[in-house]
Order: sequence, then C-alpha cells, then structure tokens
Amino acid sequence: MPGETILVVEDNERNRKLIRVLLRVHRYRILEASTADEALTILENTCPDLILMDIQLPEMDGLTLTRIIREQHELKDVPIIALTAYAMKGDQEKFLVSGCNGYISKPIDTREFPHVIEQFLTRSSEDV
Ligand code: MN
Repeated sequence: MPGETILVVEDNERNRKLIRVLLRVHRYRILEASTADEALTILENTCPDLILMDIQLPEMDGLTLTRIIREQHELKDVPIIALTAYAMKGDQEKFLVSGCNGYISKPIDTREFPHVIEQFLTRSSEDV
C-alpha cells in the first residue's frame, strides 16, 4: 500500500538505487541504510512496515542484524526479507532460523519484486 515504510539495508549503491526506483513507483516510504549500524540507528526511532535485508554487509552481516532486530520487542513482528546472491540449497532454512520471513535472490527480478513486497506487507497486516 502507498505510504508504508520500508527500510532497505543494502551496502551496494547500485542495488539500493534499483530498489529505491522500484519502491518509489509504488509510493512506499523508503529508509536506507548501508551498514548494520546505520540500520540500528534508524530503528531506534522508527518501526518500519517491512525490512529488506542484504545478507552480505560489511562488518556485521545481515543475519546477525536480523537476530538483533528480533530480540527487540517492538520489532519482533516486522517482516524481514533477506536479499541474497546465494542460490545454495539450505540457505532458505538458515534465513528462516535467523528470523527472516522470506528471501529475494539477486539479481532482483524487477517484475516480481513489487509483488513479493506487497505479499509480505499484506500478510503481516492480516496477522494483526
Ligand atoms: Mn552486500
């Protein structure tokens, strides 16, 4: 839905730009972080409707960050979608165990992407 806030945690500027463009078309409000620290700073003051989480980040990786986010009571139900270049078997399991709700593989399928986002946003609002 337009106006919903999505936090994008992604260190690659090109990917961030692509995601920004795709999300803007659907009028989401976008917050961006390129490191785990930046994400945590944003999350001190904001509870986004969804988080897109790159797994490979400098310093703290995306799965560790996801676990930290899940420990925070007010953020425990925010949908987190992992962004990953890995296509290895068993990875999905690892993401789910860490607290992610699903994943999107890179390179991002620009047609599929908005539908996946919408699905997760709808699912989480139905739970409430
Ligand atoms: Mn990365």
